[in-house]
Amino acid sequence: MSWFWDAFQQREIGENRKKSGEAHVDAKIALRSIKQLEEKVDRLSLLCHALFEELERTTGFSEAQLKEKMTQIDLRDGRADGKYDPVKGSNCPDCGRQVKKTRPNCFWCGARLQPLG
Ligand SMILES: [Zn+2]
Repeated sequence: MSWFWDAFQQREIGENRKKSGEAHVDAKIALRSIKQLEEKVDRLSLLCHALFEELERTTGFSEAQLKEKMTQIDLRDGRADGKYDPVKGSNCPDCGRQVKKTRPNCFWCGARLQPLG
């Protein structure tokens, strides 16, 4: 019976080693993804900063106005969560079809979706 127990233990050890190796590979992939996301955030941050500086210089648009606009856009989905998600849609109040939140009018029936401004 001991040989059976030893074989079982060896198989368990082998499976756990395999799982450990897979977890190590998964962790490396996740770290690479995080690094890529950090680089994208850094580039977007630089782009936003450059765009705002140029907007402020050429039009006088202030940081307070920028924050107000950010709040307006954030609240388009009804939640002040500091997020902008143009992909998620909402339903048109007139025809009920799915439309992008960023559109001023319904793609299908033309109904106004967002207040002006
Ligand atoms: Zn519609």
